[in-house]
Amino acid sequence: MTTKCKFLIIGAGPTGLGAAWRLAEHGYKKAEDWLLIESADVAGGLSASVVDEAQFTWDKGGHVIFSHYDYFDKLLDDLLGDSWVSHNREAWVYLRERFVPYPFQNNIWRLPADEQLACLEGLLDVNNLRAAGAQQPPKSFLEWIERSFGKGLAEVFFIPYNKKVWAYDPAKLSAHWVGERVATVDMMKVLHSVVNQKDDRGWGPNAQFRYPLHGGTGAIWRALADRLPPQCLKYNQSVVKIEAKNRIAHLASGEIIEYEYLISTMPLNLLVSSSPDLQHLKADADSFKYSSVHIVGIGMKGSPPVELQAKSWLYFPESQCPFYRVTVFSGYSPHNVPAEGEHWSLMCEVSESPDKAVNAATIVDDVIGGARWAKMIAPDTEIKSKWHLRIEHGYPTPFLGRDQLLDVIEPQLRAHNIFSRGRFGAWKYEVSNQDHSLMQGVEAVDHILFGEEESTFHYPGKVNAGGKNAVRPVQNFTRPV
Ligand SMILES: Cc1cc2nc3c(=O)[nH]c(=O)nc-3n(C[C@H](O)[C@H](O)[C@H](O)COP(=O)(O)OP(=O)(O)OC[C@H]3O[C@@H](n4cnc5c(N)ncnc54)[C@H](O)[C@@H]3O)c2cc1C
Repeated sequence: MTTKCKFLIIGAGPTGLGAAWRLAEHGYKKAEDWLLIESADVAGGLSASVVDEAQFTWDKGGHVIFSHYDYFDKLLDDLLGDSWVSHNREAWVYLRERFVPYPFQNNIWRLPADEQLACLEGLLDVNNLRAAGAQQPPKSFLEWIERSFGKGLAEVFFIPYNKKVWAYDPAKLSAHWVGERVATVDMMKVLHSVVNQKDDRGWGPNAQFRYPLHGGTGAIWRALADRLPPQCLKYNQSVVKIEAKNRIAHLASGEIIEYEYLISTMPLNLLVSSSPDLQHLKADADSFKYSSVHIVGIGMKGSPPVELQAKSWLYFPESQCPFYRVTVFSGYSPHNVPAEGEHWSLMCEVSESPDKAVNAATIVDDVIGGARWAKMIAPDTEIKSKWHLRIEHGYPTPFLGRDQLLDVIEPQLRAHNIFSRGRFGAWKYEVSNQDHSLMQGVEAVDHILFGEEESTFHYPGKVNAGGKNAVRPVQNFTRPV
């Protein structure tokens, strides 16, 4: 069977849904206008949520809503109305058998004295080097860490934590993506905190965040998909081959779709592999680094220990436990657990890559052992649910040389009217959260239809640094088709 449409969208994650929503806003609502093909049976992609057999709800890793766009905020307001829970961000680091509030660098007074001293010495070195004049830009993320925080903080927290979360040595990552994501250091704040032995917790964006009251993060994306014209959406269908030159996509079912424009959110390396016309790019696309993530959800009887009750999530730099981050997931919404008030839950994330192996057969027990080691679970706690999901494409690694490879591949895809966008479509970690992803889809459509700039894709630094609508506010408007 052959179908024709103007726009073909691959994937019903936030990016594909953003593109679809924007097309509908512009009045495109027929199957010959656009089709969205999704291999899963539900919308959301990595931002979907799952209810396990014991009725605990899980996200695919700790999803916190950050926003750089009014458009995104308004859409979310509209989709879920009042069904949100508001939270103060309570992020902590657990190490040396103690909790340190995030940002770690501002709260080193909680460390053992010798480590406080090492951190302060490193910070003084950093300040002296800065005072001595301009330095070359850092060649790697490792260099950026050492130059921003000094040797002490680097060794105590930043290097071990980043090795754990990225599953690659920070020397293999570029420094380009960092921007607002990691707070740099205000020496006076650190000194005040050390001398007064007082926490300093106020940093940057997202001091508050909101979370869906019902249905996990995925509720947002299911609500958006429900507003789209059903005749344009096809679930349980996979795109298996793309004839880039002829603009034809083949589905696993044997169906053929002829399109004018392709907005693809599948991983870029797989997109290139699936197209016989793009084989000259395959070696480059195959060299893209990424990491996988194991999500282990632990559902328990009772309520969290006192130390966890006001915490949102915790970072774990030490090797005694396999996870780099744990979210106190029952705290996000009372409906994330069955029989509200009678249960609680932790969601733990473990990274994996060719440089960092994980034993999938033992990971659930290893995580539970780690949670006991960190005293998050008491010996007598009754575990009601152990949920495990391995995500092959978890983090698009900002590896050294990434941008040069993207600069080669992207224009060649565009020459065939292919817009590869989103977390793994664009492979730009710095603009791969839900807000960025939705806007990449929206902006791709506005670019194709009206020649508007794709700010998020082309200027991640500006979008992230400038707060809401830094580059070009996308308007909520409808134009005649
Ligand atoms: C561990 C983890 C933690 C995260 N934490 C946060 C956070 O705190 N805050 C935040 O905002 N974001 C977070 N994210 C990122 C968030 O999940 C992404 O921003 C978002 O889901 C990316 O949307 P996307 O549409 O680009 O890709 P995806 O969500 O990956 O969606 C792509 C879709 O394409 C489909 N697909 C792929 N190939 C094909 C094919 N050949 N045929 C048909 N369909 C196909 C897939 O099934 C999928 O549904 C996190 C992600 C992870 C993994």
